[in-house]
Amino acid sequence: MADNLKAVSILNKDDQIVIGGAGGFIGGALTRYFHEQGFTDIRAVDKKPLSQWYQIVPGVESLCLDLSDRWNCRRACEGAVEVYNLAADMGGMGFIERFRIECLRSVLINTHMLEEAYLAGARRYFFSSSACAYNTDLQKDPNVRALRESDAYPAMAERGYGWEKLFSEMVCREYWAERGLKTAIARFHNVYGPYGTWDGGREKAPAAICRKVIEAKDSGNLEIEIWGDGHQTRSFMYIDDCLEGIDQIMHCEDLIATPINLGSDVLMSINDLVSIAERIGGVTLKRTYDLDAPTGVAGRNSDNTFIKKILGWAPSLPLEEGMKRTYAWIEQQYIGRKAGRRTVS
Ligand code: NAD
Repeated sequence: MADNLKAVSILNKDDQIVIGGAGGFIGGALTRYFHEQGFTDIRAVDKKPLSQWYQIVPGVESLCLDLSDRWNCRRACEGAVEVYNLAADMGGMGFIERFRIECLRSVLINTHMLEEAYLAGARRYFFSSSACAYNTDLQKDPNVRALRESDAYPAMAERGYGWEKLFSEMVCREYWAERGLKTAIARFHNVYGPYGTWDGGREKAPAAICRKVIEAKDSGNLEIEIWGDGHQTRSFMYIDDCLEGIDQIMHCEDLIATPINLGSDVLMSINDLVSIAERIGGVTLKRTYDLDAPTGVAGRNSDNTFIKKILGWAPSLPLEEGMKRTYAWIEQQYIGRKAGRRTVS
């Protein structure tokens, strides 16, 4: 991995890095990533109480602030050299199809964070966009053509969540065009791994499937309910690849204010994902299908031509290996919760 680290070669170790959404899955992992590289002035911010953060990194300033409030953004960005905005009201399909208004309201976070990062004199700003920003008309078939960056327009993003991302991307682009703030915009495709949501309604497919397999084994009821017909397809990127990609995209001069895919290009059906989790769990389950459950688009994949061309890099950890690590962590949480220990789901 060492050759791919960029922040260390560009920043001083005591430059301040601010991470919004640091109580969540990717923000928490990013906080740890920078801390492990020796950065000494990291400010982690999330609206959740600290007791609900997935990771609290010792030596990092951890603040509980609602970043949809402009003055909280000012406090968060004070002294920042780089700002990473991972904060958003989001979840898996069950959440984003049901709570479109909450998803749209995340526009306040990005708008205020950008303005305050700019006023604080930050050098760079990172925005976590999503593949949900792509035109949904291009995603009606499980054997979908992989999405290129230009496929976001003409715009027909996913309702709620996707439109918020597309609009916020545009705000990032204009802060560069009009005010010279270097912004980076990555369109994530399904990120998964340990220290993320695995229960409670906001979890995404890889975590939900691992949990269901673990529950089935534990209860002895060897069945699994799958949302939709299981033929819907996606690609999945392990968290460590995502962190490396964020670092590379943020520090590339050729990618300023330029949306870019950050995801795996290995297309996988949900049925195949279940088979992987079954293999890891050493079990075969009877499958039932909830055809009324929220499933999102029929198929979605990342075209990685652009990232390979510009950065000579793309995510690499095989899904089976990433799922093994995720399954092991969720199993630990599951056992811990059953034993009465406090866990964060
Ligand atoms: P997450 O839900 O684990 O983390 C988001 C965090 O933002 C949460 O801890 C939440 O409390 C915090 N937050 C929400 N509103 C806030 C507010 N007003 N002020 C401060 N904090 C607030 O999600 P994640 O998977 O870590 O996603 C991080 C970013 O990446 C989000 O912008 C998300 O839209 C984007 N993204 C993620 C995926 C994925 O597969 N995980 C895919 C595409 C895009």
